Amino acid sequence: MQRYSLVNVIRHALRSNTRWQPAWRDPQPQRAYDVIVIGGGGHGLATAYYLARKHGLRRVAVLEKGWIGGGNSGRNTQVTRSNYFYPVSSAFFDHSLRLYEGLSRELNFNVMLSQRGLISLAHSEHELETNRRWANAIRMNNVDSQMLTPAEIKKLVPLLNLHSRFPVVGGFIQRRAGISRHDAVVWGYARAANALGVDIIQGCEVVGFDLAGGRVNGVQTSRGNIASDRVVMSVAGHSSVLAKLAGLRLPITTMALQAMVTEPLKPVLNAVVISASVHAYVSQSDRGEIVLGGGADAYNSYAQRGGLPLTRSTVAAAIELFPTFSRLRLMRQWAGAVDVTPDTTPIMGLTPVHGLYISCGWGTGGYKAIPAGGDTMADTVANNRPHPLISRFGLDRFPKGALIDEGAASGVAH
Ligand SMILES: Cc1cc2nc3c(=O)[nH]c(=O)nc-3n(C[C@H](O)[C@H](O)[C@H](O)COP(=O)(O)OP(=O)(O)OC[C@H]3O[C@@H](n4cnc5c(N)ncnc54)[C@H](O)[C@@H]3O)c2cc1C
Repeated sequence: MQRYSLVNVIRHALRSNTRWQPAWRDPQPQRAYDVIVIGGGGHGLATAYYLARKHGLRRVAVLEKGWIGGGNSGRNTQVTRSNYFYPVSSAFFDHSLRLYEGLSRELNFNVMLSQRGLISLAHSEHELETNRRWANAIRMNNVDSQMLTPAEIKKLVPLLNLHSRFPVVGGFIQRRAGISRHDAVVWGYARAANALGVDIIQGCEVVGFDLAGGRVNGVQTSRGNIASDRVVMSVAGHSSVLAKLAGLRLPITTMALQAMVTEPLKPVLNAVVISASVHAYVSQSDRGEIVLGGGADAYNSYAQRGGLPLTRSTVAAAIELFPTFSRLRLMRQWAGAVDVTPDTTPIMGLTPVHGLYISCGWGTGGYKAIPAGGDTMADTVANNRPHPLISRFGLDRFPKGALIDEGAASGVAH
């Protein structure tokens, strides 16, 4: 792999930048692989990377029906945090944040992690009490979290209106949280996986499975059949569609989650601010755009657009918090099809079909989980048992009723 470094940037600039190698190959699908990963989002690519790097499996293919990062991994608002309530979620997501902290070096690709802090706002005494319990639970999970007074919040976010219809009475911060660059995470994993021999095959849709005697023997694709006795499904909003082809019914609903950006500004906001009450979260990208996100559309859909009512309510909520932003023009709005589980916790691990594994249910919050998702799925596939960090995330928790309702615990699904 050609190294990315200051020295190389200068060297190539002196040669008019004509000798850079493509970041990954464009291979034809082979007849068989040791492992096939379906879905070229962050989770699929990270799984392939760790399979090759940590488990020495080099005959690995990632099959992507469109282009890598064209799904939710390239559509999200980039929030990276680990302030989860339940110990089991916290252990997993903090493992992810720790991997993020070293990811640029690991992948030799700048993922632009900016740990600028994430502030969760409380707008009533009731919500403040809930925040206290949440912040204490996070600390008991050995993750950083600190309560803030309104004055401390104002100091960190001077543009925030503390005295709107929803007065800010306090909040808490996770200082290690922040944002990173989503395309860079996808491209960084793709480039590093490719360098280890992984075939990344774009424009290759999986349309069926070769199953016999309760086992998977391969997949049928728009570019022919490919054999493998280990297949990982990592297709986010299309999980139930794909799983159905293997005879599995998932407890997943798919809906559009949208986001939008304003025209760019000079730096004015140096934290991620989230309000569960007004239901909006706001950050500023490195390009200067104000990035706005809210809740998912209230109806099921596979459309990657999102409806106008939610666009309007998200903008209204953001302006309630930051009245000055009302003067900005919205530049772009988009959406992704998110796969939501009843308890807002992912589904990871083995399935009833031998050799078929699943990573889905990331819903509105799986971007931050990409490194840990890839790491633990690779370990699960290599050893054919759930990695200890995800042993509670299996499909079997639904018939057992062993749900991990993180959304209800923290009131935030992202
Ligand atoms: C607007 C928005 C904002 C978000 N904000 C955040 C955030 O701030 N923080 C956070 O942590 N998370 C956030 N998320 C959620 C996060 O983006 C996702 O949970 C995460 O990207 C899921 O990654 P993935 O690799 O599982 O899926 P994806 O990136 O969607 O990749 C799945 C891939 O599978 C491919 N595919 C589907 N079917 C097939 C098939 N049959 N054959 C081959 N390929 C197939 C798709 O084309 C797609 O490229 C947000 C999501 C959205 C939409």
